[in-house]
Amino acid sequence: MKTTILFIGGGYSSVWAYRQLASSTTILKKIKKGEVELKVICDRKHHYFHGFTGDVIGGHIPEMAVLTPLKTLIPDAQFIYGKATQVSPFMNMVKYTTSEGQTKEVKYDHLVVGCGTVDNETNTLDFEVDTIHVKKPKGLYNFKKELNHLLGGYEAEKDHKFEKPQEHIVLLGSGFTSVEIATNLAEYVNQTHQGVISVALINSRDKILKEWQNKQPRLVKYAEKALTKNGVKVYNNCVVVDSNPEGVTLSNGVFLKTRLVVNAVGQQPVALLGLRHLCLNPEGKIETNRYLNALGYSNIWCGGDIALVKRPFSKGFCPPNALWAIMQGARIGKNIKRVMSNKAPRKFWFPGLGQAAAFGVGKGALELYGIPFWGWLAYIIRLGFFFYFFPAKSRLIKIIWQFYKDKKNPNEKASIFKAEYRDLIISNEKQVKLKSA
Ligand SMILES: Cc1cc2nc3c(=O)[nH]c(=O)nc-3n(C[C@H](O)[C@H](O)[C@H](O)COP(=O)(O)OP(=O)(O)OC[C@H]3O[C@@H](n4cnc5c(N)ncnc54)[C@H](O)[C@@H]3O)c2cc1C
Repeated sequence: MKTTILFIGGGYSSVWAYRQLASSTTILKKIKKGEVELKVICDRKHHYFHGFTGDVIGGHIPEMAVLTPLKTLIPDAQFIYGKATQVSPFMNMVKYTTSEGQTKEVKYDHLVVGCGTVDNETNTLDFEVDTIHVKKPKGLYNFKKELNHLLGGYEAEKDHKFEKPQEHIVLLGSGFTSVEIATNLAEYVNQTHQGVISVALINSRDKILKEWQNKQPRLVKYAEKALTKNGVKVYNNCVVVDSNPEGVTLSNGVFLKTRLVVNAVGQQPVALLGLRHLCLNPEGKIETNRYLNALGYSNIWCGGDIALVKRPFSKGFCPPNALWAIMQGARIGKNIKRVMSNKAPRKFWFPGLGQAAAFGVGKGALELYGIPFWGWLAYIIRLGFFFYFFPAKSRLIKIIWQFYKDKKNPNEKASIFKAEYRDLIISNEKQVKLKSA
């Protein structure tokens, strides 16, 4: 009898669960003998390292740092390129749509659900406006393309001093994603088009970074300072109420001329039919027990952003970030190994470390076990963490080399994605989306 371990998604939780399994010599031997098979269904052919999004937008980290081909990360698994749509827990079956638009099924003995969240592209805004979402690599690609188009249009005027900026790049949202993008982007635009284009951040609350407001007011102040220093205009207690092809109108009456609006107002869990009865919580996530099983199913495991996991040693639930996804994925891999050798699974045990962000080069902000750090020290510690958890260490040298080449040609660094990544993103995401629609 062959045991099939199926992973949905190629993000942090799946990759780290896979690693635990593939690092076991017993499992590897069983794979060779045909007794165990690992299968990964994913609607992308690469892993996306979201943490560097702001740095890539700021042009100081090459885009190859966010994209790692999945094949290099899961060499012992069979890769199925498709979009999972439905889980049948009683038949141990997952339905998926292929890039050709066919619906297929795959059986499993253990299922790892790690398909995370997607940008909330539906509702949230009470008006019609084309916004860009950067969670998907395609969104980041589109953003860079639009940015280059916009800056290209103002190329002749960049040395001219205007009384007020000619145009804005507008960011909706005030969480880490939005503030990191705003500061890094403003730092970049200030170097190339200061006074011509400015960055505006629209926040429906009275302060930015709600996650740190009570716990880390010092770091919130630091972020606010970084925004001000980079000339980002923050509109607190404001929402966009109207838009036209020229720009957007805010609830305080201000009109911002813009053609580039980034929507970072939040994400929603990927919806999988067959598991919706486990998503009745307000977050819409799949509820798990302490062992990371979907409630009531001992062979379905969930980790990362899609899972609602009680936080060990604390009240509430684990936060949705990469470190928690990695730790949960690793626990899932270990637990599957244990169950396969007739041992009881172990509870998920991780006290958390903290949270890090970068608001431009050398402007890090870090909370480590509740202790705040900022400036270069925080920036370097954050980079150290990111490199430590970087999924393909062998690519780091290539990334550093690319970084060096970009530094030598500063005009190229914000240019649109290099051909190899552009093709990777466009070819696979477009196919899956269009043909499965
Ligand atoms: C812009 C941005 C910046 C961030 N910065 C940080 C940071 O600095 N630090 C930090 O800790 N966290 C950061 N995060 C959060 C972090 O990226 C997530 O918490 C983490 O990616 C969650 O991992 P995951 O494995 O649950 O899902 P993901 O990494 O999102 O992976 C989900 C995978 O599932 C695939 N998938 C989705 N739906 C399907 C389907 N139906 N069928 C098949 N495959 C599917 C996706 O293609 C993807 O491969 C950031 C997030 C964003 C958007």
